[in-house]
Amino acid sequence: MNEKSEFDSELFRTATSQLDAVAGRLGLEANIHERLRYPRRALVVTVPTQMDNGRTEVFVGYRVHHNTVLGPTKGGLRYHMDVNLGEVTALAMLMSWKCAIMGLPYGGAKGGVRCDPSAMSARELEHMTRRYTAEIMLMIGPDLDIPAPDLGTNEQIMAWMMDTYSMTQGRTVPGVVTGKPLLVGGSAGRREATGRGIVYALYQAARRLGQELKGWRIVVQGFGNVGAVAARLLWREGCLIVAVGDVRGGVYNPKGLDIRQLESHVAEAGTVAGFPASEAVGSAELLELPCDVLIPAALGSQIRQDNAHRVKASIVAEGANGPTTPEADTILRDRGVTVIPDILANAGGVVVSYFEWVQGLQYYFWRESEITARLQEIMTRAFNRVWVIASKEGTDLRTAALMEGVRRVADAFKLRGLYP
Ligand code: NAD
Repeated sequence: MNEKSEFDSELFRTATSQLDAVAGRLGLEANIHERLRYPRRALVVTVPTQMDNGRTEVFVGYRVHHNTVLGPTKGGLRYHMDVNLGEVTALAMLMSWKCAIMGLPYGGAKGGVRCDPSAMSARELEHMTRRYTAEIMLMIGPDLDIPAPDLGTNEQIMAWMMDTYSMTQGRTVPGVVTGKPLLVGGSAGRREATGRGIVYALYQAARRLGQELKGWRIVVQGFGNVGAVAARLLWREGCLIVAVGDVRGGVYNPKGLDIRQLESHVAEAGTVAGFPASEAVGSAELLELPCDVLIPAALGSQIRQDNAHRVKASIVAEGANGPTTPEADTILRDRGVTVIPDILANAGGVVVSYFEWVQGLQYYFWRESEITARLQEIMTRAFNRVWVIASKEGTDLRTAALMEGVRRVADAFKLRGLYP
């Protein structure tokens, strides 16, 4: 197959070059390698939405199923101005590896609408979300494809999606999305799951490196669902959160920020910027601050060829999907920085989404303590499996994680054979 320009995007280039890098190591059959480079199916939709000023705006939306060999597909929904087919496809591919590493019975998917949710009213967001859901109806369902929140989307948007789908079925179908509010079939611990998973991964990294998590200096880029929770939980574990940043600015205090007070400030001001007892820091500068752990938890392609050599952290725990370009990855590896890759570090979200889906299918809900114990067990097992592969193969953690994820998907392809 020729390189397909419709998938053109930096993240697609990152995801395919990661896959290509492990294909040789795994001895992947050429046809399986090629099938894994492209999605099984992708839908592009227009989403006409009546705005508050009476005008009808036409947004473009996507839903991509990367592959379905391990089960129904699973993946988030992103609302952001950078969304395009290539980015959504790359994110769907990463979901395939992530679910496989975690041993979940899912293939990878992703969706997105190119829009700026921060500039839209709640009414506009609801109408756009409902129309988008109607447009992708043929692609989603509890045993077909199950969306969840991602950048720019949240529990409320999941509730609207679930309601829209349910209305067309004439009954409530909680299993069609995860990351819903608790009252309408959400799971205890889902909101915190991704951040909590990062903490479990870092805990294992500290153990393997013969260090203590407590006292580590942490920098977090992004203070949303992933970044804020990771910062809060690590702060509670006794880490020093020395800097955090969001789209509107960053704050730095080498003695550590009080995260509880910072969260109150964000609740009022809508941004971390302007937090007292800290100095302002720019978003590029934030990534280069002295610290033990850098957690990029915002957008993709943040650590690049031009800034990777200035990253001072000894560990990068990828909360975001695809925050490190392949060139930057090489630079970090050569400099001895331990990168805990996205498909491992941020997998806590999809693990608890899986729990939510199972609970929704059974109409039987678990206590939060059960959720966190099972999440810890799965994250710990996956981290250590990947660590052992990296040691055996003499590779970095990303290569090892990809080898594990891609191998499982490829083996499933072989077992199922080629239809017809
Ligand atoms: P979110 O919308 O809740 O938060 C995003 C945060 O990033 C916000 O604080 C925003 O201000 C900040 N941000 C946006 N642009 C920025 C910029 N240019 N510089 C600095 N900060 C910026 O999103 P989220 O759910 O926390 O997702 C963040 C990342 O984590 C995404 O890459 C997403 O794919 C990934 N992720 C999310 C989940 C999940 O469960 N939500 C799971 C796995 C991975």
